[in-house]
Amino acid sequence: MSVETQKETLGFQTEVKQLLHLMIHSLYSNKEIFLRELISNASDAVDKLRFEALAKPELLEGGAELKIRVSFDKDAKTVTLEDNGIGMSREDAVTHLGTIAKSGTADFMKHLSGDQKKDSHLIGQFGVGFYSAFIVADKVDVFSRRAGLAASEGVHWSSKGEGEFEISTVEKADRGTRIVLHLKSAEDEFADGWRLRNIIKKYSDHIALPIELPKEVAAAEGEEQPAVEWETVNRASALWTRPRTEVKDEEYQEFYKHVAHDFENPLSWSHNKVEGKLEYTSLLYVPTRAPFDLYQREAPKGLKLYVQRVFVMDQAESFLPLYLRFIKGVVDSNDLSLNVSREILQKDPIIDSMKSALTKRVLDMLEKLAKNEPEQYKGFWKNFGQVMKEGPAEDFANKEKIAGLLRFASTQGDDGEQVVGLADYLARAKEGQDKIYYLTGETYAQVKNSPHLEVFRKKGIEVLLLTDRIDEWLMSYLNDFDGKSFVDVARGDLDLGNLDSEEDKKAAEEVAKSKEGLVERLKTALGDSVAEVRVSHRLTDSPAILAIGEQDLGLQMRQILEASGQKVPDSKPIFEFNPAHPLIEKLDNEQSDERFGDLSHILFDQAALAAGDSLKDPAAYVRRLNKLLVELSV
Ligand code: ADP
Ligand code: MG
Repeated sequence: MSVETQKETLGFQTEVKQLLHLMIHSLYSNKEIFLRELISNASDAVDKLRFEALAKPELLEGGAELKIRVSFDKDAKTVTLEDNGIGMSREDAVTHLGTIAKSGTADFMKHLSGDQKKDSHLIGQFGVGFYSAFIVADKVDVFSRRAGLAASEGVHWSSKGEGEFEISTVEKADRGTRIVLHLKSAEDEFADGWRLRNIIKKYSDHIALPIELPKEVAAAEGEEQPAVEWETVNRASALWTRPRTEVKDEEYQEFYKHVAHDFENPLSWSHNKVEGKLEYTSLLYVPTRAPFDLYQREAPKGLKLYVQRVFVMDQAESFLPLYLRFIKGVVDSNDLSLNVSREILQKDPIIDSMKSALTKRVLDMLEKLAKNEPEQYKGFWKNFGQVMKEGPAEDFANKEKIAGLLRFASTQGDDGEQVVGLADYLARAKEGQDKIYYLTGETYAQVKNSPHLEVFRKKGIEVLLLTDRIDEWLMSYLNDFDGKSFVDVARGDLDLGNLDSEEDKKAAEEVAKSKEGLVERLKTALGDSVAEVRVSHRLTDSPAILAIGEQDLGLQMRQILEASGQKVPDSKPIFEFNPAHPLIEKLDNEQSDERFGDLSHILFDQAALAAGDSLKDPAAYVRRLNKLLVELSV
């Protein structure tokens, strides 16, 4: 036993305590994955060492083949994992094994429901594989030394997985990490060579470095104990270098869990080898679930980069656009140099062409998913739709392709679910319809009942209902799809084109002519509040609506800008009235200018309310309305 100095007892971060509890209870049915997680960490540690050693070869401390060893002791009921990777300093051990560094974790933890079944799938979100050791162990000892530190600067971390851990400084001759699991008495089945071998084959075969188990050999004559011989039990070659046809789905899935630090299977993947001017292999995955920090700027994103099978970088962000930041996987290039840096990646023209090819791969994979697995694609859209909507603004070259992947709610659905693709929309469009109609707003309930939809209902024309905060901004980047232009039904002078018959148009013109006097009177009454007053052809039930000027900011954008403290250019709405509505007829016949004024202001305010806007002078609205109510009751 080596000397332990500077012994300290520290408490786990609150979130760690909660997660430990959740983990131990909810992953119990699949407890053997603890080994997968610890091996995954050991493999990461070796990758990190390899990478750091590129610049500082002395870290290798005279070499030694990089590997992971798993051993066990049936009598002591222990399983031990040892790697000669990067190792941990005392400080590393305290932070990495005692806290969760991800930003937003504390916030996210508050959303856990407390129902273990429901919450169990959230464990993968934190990448806290290490703690899975406590599913099978009631005590875990970690001995580690960071490469480059002196042998006297080893660390011993020890915990029973309850509220705290002990940490002390120890002597450790070899760099790297040794983890000793003291198995719970009910879990001693894991202290077994055959069992361990099976688990490694099942979950960790894809790990690119050798995982060794002691071989059972008979004791030589005259010796009591047999010499330990080690045997590699995994395939120990990089999975992505194998031909696609030879890799089983399960292998792809396990590899994903390792690279993505996820506990769930991926939704889909795409494995490709590119040869020719550029040579590289990519293996890209779409996760099943969105990480909780998808919208946080600092959240990790990007691919794992290898150069000729050597790991050189985690979270290489330059290979995919930001709107595809949820994609996980590896890219292994033959063209880049081993000492490539993030700065070089940002400028290298090779990266640009790889980025556009990889982007296309992802979009193709998503198209395939949408086509072949529509139910799964629904799930994808729920998780990542909002991010995909950033696409058209960021990726001009693929705008049409991205547009084809978008999904919206529409007047054809009744629950606001975003399931309608633009191709579906056009496929069932009315004959002669050469536009894609949409309406944006705050909530589904509000847009669903908007008066702007009245004429579309009457004519049976589908309208897309867009209520995500990003939608209006998105639509400012989309002009057309499949040659058909987008039309905001709340904007400008609605022209239904071929959808209105010649007679309809003629009749509308005649009505407009006959109401010229009313238009003038309204203009005078409403004065500065409106940009224009006109007869509407889009209303059947409501007396009036407010349309947005062709060039003006929509309500959603205006509210977003205002909320962020920006000055928004003042724009006035267009007041459109329904000549056939009894209230408008009444207005037209109103002799008193005062009552005409009150009634037109009330109609104006009501139209603003129906559009989801707030009133500039709510008190005046109430006053006018009450005045009319009093007159009514006399
Ligand atoms: P993740 O692997 O997603 O980062 P884990 O809970 O599995 O999360 O591991 C936490 C951290 O502990 C790792 O990121 C790493 O910094 C450190 N760690 C765990 N195992 C090892 C190891 N064998 N060698 C070096 N560092 C390790
Ligand atoms: Mg891990």
